[in-house]
Amino acid sequence: MFMQQMPSRNGQNHLQLIRVKAGQKVAGLICGEPVRAYVHYHKGKSLPCISELADICPLCETGFARRYYAYYPLRNNEGKTAFIELTQTVEQQLQDHMEGAGPYTIPQITVGRKAGKKNNPLSIDVKWHEVNPEKFRTWLEKLTPIEEIIRTLLILWDLPKQRVGEEDAEYGDRLATILMDRII
Ligand SMILES: [Zn+2]
Repeated sequence: MFMQQMPSRNGQNHLQLIRVKAGQKVAGLICGEPVRAYVHYHKGKSLPCISELADICPLCETGFARRYYAYYPLRNNEGKTAFIELTQTVEQQLQDHMEGAGPYTIPQITVGRKAGKKNNPLSIDVKWHEVNPEKFRTWLEKLTPIEEIIRTLLILWDLPKQRVGEEDAEYGDRLATILMDRII
């Protein structure tokens, strides 16, 4: 009858977003493909840049700077999945490190941020886990689909999903209207 946590707005559980804070370290296995986005900050909240979808991104038009982020699904050693926000520099280091990895390799990362200033740069440590093909196949079956990350990001941004059959441009216009109202 009683729940430990509030239900999410759409009534389904969703992934947790990890933004590594100063003095914090987060470790886990990367368990799927990332979602990549440019993000604007408006009144302390993040909002997506929609210039790739719509003719005009209201936040770009208003002169808000944008930043690139990659959101990777991450599984901790208790088997719980969340997703982590990585900067471009750190994602590049991850990709450089994964070059030359064998076909049955699972990357384990530890992402940290030096204590002190809130905006100290992130750092990343990458290790390879080579597993046998059988174990790797089981691993592939349990990957986190990118749709789950997108769904959670839209909840955080308080934006609607793309409708089935809706063109990218139509969706972009719909988002532009919402964002426009929000920044006025
Ligand atoms: Zn923009």
